[in-house]
Amino acid sequence: MRRKVIAGNWKMNKTPIEVVSFMETFPELVKDAEAEVILCAPYIDVMVLMKLADDTNIKVGVQNMHYEESGAYTGEVSPKMLRDIGVDYVIIGHSERRAYYNETDESVNKKLKAAFNYNLKPILCVGETLEQREEGITKDLITTQTRLALKGLSNEQVKKVIIAYEPIWAIGTGKTATSLEANEAIKWIRDEIRAIYGDEVADEVILQYGGSVKSSNAKELFEMSDIDGGLVGGASLDPTEFSKIVNYNK
Ligand code: PEP
Repeated sequence: MRRKVIAGNWKMNKTPIEVVSFMETFPELVKDAEAEVILCAPYIDVMVLMKLADDTNIKVGVQNMHYEESGAYTGEVSPKMLRDIGVDYVIIGHSERRAYYNETDESVNKKLKAAFNYNLKPILCVGETLEQREEGITKDLITTQTRLALKGLSNEQVKKVIIAYEPIWAIGTGKTATSLEANEAIKWIRDEIRAIYGDEVADEVILQYGGSVKSSNAKELFEMSDIDGGLVGGASLDPTEFSKIVNYNK
């Protein structure tokens, strides 16, 4: 059986002092969680968060990275730097990065390969806009995004990628895909992986749902057959609310 993985994406929120305050209560609230717990923080918070997460069951991730190991890329952070400080996870291809910072399927693919070169675990995001859903091209779009992102990775690597299906119309809007809609889309992704990489990879790969997950809808979503947890934005900012999502099965 696949494990559940629940990751918070803090986006551009929380100063280091606010991280200290979050971590005063959060570790105790999730210490008995069955799901794997990840917090993806702004770079500026990572060292503080890692120190406070030491000796807990909380893993630390970031929200983006460059694919080169060093060089003249002002303002960027490299996979080598992240590896050096011991970061575990990196979100790649979040829809906000694709929309505001021109991330393409090609750059997403380069970043996934770089993540594996530096032993970072990628959380790949795919998802459609409302217009694309209304046009009826969701399946084609998310399977294409998945295929292009994973191009050139080995079966063993694909097994280790976490893929978050995040319908863009559900991110930060309060609108959640129904559990049936989310499960259907996630199945399309799993079927695409099955077709390319075979049963073993498809049955192992962790596929999350993201888009206005809250403590009130987490259980219904995460208990669906193909949904292996979630990527949570707004609701991960509050330690009590996020702990209820992490403990959705208690
Ligand atoms: C996200 O940032 O990936 C996300 C799903 O945000 P929210 O939970 O706020 O919709």
